Amino acid sequence: MSKPPAENVVIIGTGCAGLTAAIYAARSNLNPLVLDGPLPGGQLTTTSEVENFPGFPEGVDGFHLMDSLRKQAAKFGARFEQALVQSVDFASLPRKLICADRTILAKTVIIATGASPRMTGIPGERELYGGKGVTTCATCDGAFYRKMHVAVIGGGDSAAEEALFLTRFANKVYFVHRRDTLRASKIMADRATSHPAIQMVWDSTPVAVTGVPEGRVSGLTIRNVKTGAESVLPVKGVFVAIGHVPNSAPFSSVLDVDPNGYFVPVGGSQVRTKVPGVYVAGDCADHVYRQAVTAAGMGCQAAIDAERWLAEHGG
Ligand code: NAP
Repeated sequence: MSKPPAENVVIIGTGCAGLTAAIYAARSNLNPLVLDGPLPGGQLTTTSEVENFPGFPEGVDGFHLMDSLRKQAAKFGARFEQALVQSVDFASLPRKLICADRTILAKTVIIATGASPRMTGIPGERELYGGKGVTTCATCDGAFYRKMHVAVIGGGDSAAEEALFLTRFANKVYFVHRRDTLRASKIMADRATSHPAIQMVWDSTPVAVTGVPEGRVSGLTIRNVKTGAESVLPVKGVFVAIGHVPNSAPFSSVLDVDPNGYFVPVGGSQVRTKVPGVYVAGDCADHVYRQAVTAAGMGCQAAIDAERWLAEHGG
């Protein structure tokens, strides 16, 4: 039986990075194959209004934005298929992407698999996630909590950053941490703990988000880990900031990842990996900015690099 021909470029992931890469690769006549993972459209499909994507002065619905990017890529010839890449073989050309039901061959690969916010798993969190008061992104959703009380759960740099950002909008930010010292860097911890609008809630672990019957967050139940006492913080927003998990597992044995699992690009580039013709883009390779527009920028870079690699190596 003859082998299927290798794709010019396979893009794994359909968030902002993957779809922007698809637009660029398709407009370069590369006929890209784009693989939808478990969350087609990526993290933005789970937020309601996006107010900080350039070009939308009135804001844009996250799902609508991703749907538009997908249509734009399809218009230029990108092909979409559902496939979960389980492992890869990058030892030779073409590269092999091993899925449950088939192996896809590719001359170049753009990995744009994103990152998933780590969640606490407490009751009410999932039910009230996305537009109902539980969120994982202050930059995206903070402006919806003007003059309100909100809670941030976490204790690292992300939580400190979220809490500080939220002080621009919220009247009061409860910063709930399960120990009595922050894991965040000293400078971030000092800024957060000394901010007049931030109230530290030490030694406290979240127990439940209240408001399920009403369909909107009405409070956060917490337990003091030293006394066992439970109390309810009267908040309208709960920002979960206990870290992200980059979706790099199927590739981490063959590409460089940092101790948190984020891809580490090589050669002074944001998107190149140590395997020629294999690129990374978006939140799977970026724990610093994590914005839709920065992910889109990385997707663009990766597609241009892939096009140039194919031109040099016979695409
Ligand atoms: P992180 O450093 O891993 O911190 C996660 C925090 O969440 C910890 O304080 C942890 O508590 C807490 N936590 C974990 N699971 C929890 C749970 N189930 N319930 C309640 N609390 C829980 O994650 P991160 O803050 O996202 O930072 C990740 C990396 O990115 C770090 O290296 C960080 O320095 C970096 N980063 C840097 C910046 C910056 O430089 N501006 C900004 C953001 C992130 P414990 O402390 O008790 O474990």
